[in-house]
Amino acid sequence: MITGDHMLIYDLTHEELIEFMLKNGHKKYRAEQIWQWLYKQKVETFREMNNLPEDIIELLESNFKIKALELVLKHISADGTIKALYSLHDGHLIESVLMKHHYGNSICVTTQVGCNIGCSFCASGLLKKKRDMTSGEILAQIIETERILKDRIAYVVVMGIGEPFDNYDELMKFLYTINHPKGLAIGARHITVSTSGIVPKIKEYAHMGLQVNLAISLHAPNNEIRTKLMKINQAYPVEEVIGAIKYYLSVANRRVTIEYILIDGVNDTVETALELARVLRGLNVYVNLIPYNEVLEAPYKRSSSENMQNFYDVLMKHKIQVTLRKEQGHDINAACGQLRSQHLK
Ligand code: SF4
Repeated sequence: MITGDHMLIYDLTHEELIEFMLKNGHKKYRAEQIWQWLYKQKVETFREMNNLPEDIIELLESNFKIKALELVLKHISADGTIKALYSLHDGHLIESVLMKHHYGNSICVTTQVGCNIGCSFCASGLLKKKRDMTSGEILAQIIETERILKDRIAYVVVMGIGEPFDNYDELMKFLYTINHPKGLAIGARHITVSTSGIVPKIKEYAHMGLQVNLAISLHAPNNEIRTKLMKINQAYPVEEVIGAIKYYLSVANRRVTIEYILIDGVNDTVETALELARVLRGLNVYVNLIPYNEVLEAPYKRSSSENMQNFYDVLMKHKIQVTLRKEQGHDINAACGQLRSQHLK
């Protein structure tokens, strides 16, 4: 277990690290050197920063810790998917999932310990939120998983356990640091943030200024079905979520992904597909249909192949951009957190 009360150095922005060094009587270039060791060489101890004098190493050691996560368990599937269970400094467990694609390695990161959104199809939603994660803890998932992988991660989806917009400030810090050319330098277009539909934050996010992708978990075209699946719909019903998407499209001018998990007999009929096509008509969106990953904790079943195909066909016929995702070792939230919940049992 990671011990010590020191602040995690990965929680500092580039500017904050410069400020810290200046305040302690050192030159700005020293901060640049440290930053380079953290984000390019990705060293595991301050001692490895061998172009720094002893007094700076001691200054860092007495103020910061460098390690945020301890690997507890890892599971590697035949297709190369890695599920890693990490322990945080206070013993809480979080999970990250690495997927290999033909275009590069993509990681799904967790932003909170547990989640309060309460989606009825999600195993993670049963474990109430214990705390928010810091930007450095979210970021450390990329660096630690690169160590397991022994390769670079080029794509990031913020789609693990937790609602990222419920931890907005840390999320923003995380996004700016991983996108920073001197940070992990991950292209904004290679990053996707997925929200359950926190309306005021979608509007705020529209003004963030980075070209990061936005995905919205809609899962239903009307309030009756959506409230059954997602408790959050009582606070932000479908029409408000659609209104926020319109706002985002007008400000950010970037296409939005609509996530839609297909659940047998719940949200997968032809009528529901027609209603979804009506709700999304004229919007610059792209629907990602996802076969449901069954979990022991929820009473739902995956849609039949026939229903999934019919649903897809209706959207296509109504000129809605759509893909039907193929199975992979891991799928979004419904599967995120399985390792953690099994381990906690
Ligand atoms: S699907 Fe996501 S938002 Fe919903 S309960 Fe699970 S982790 Fe939370």
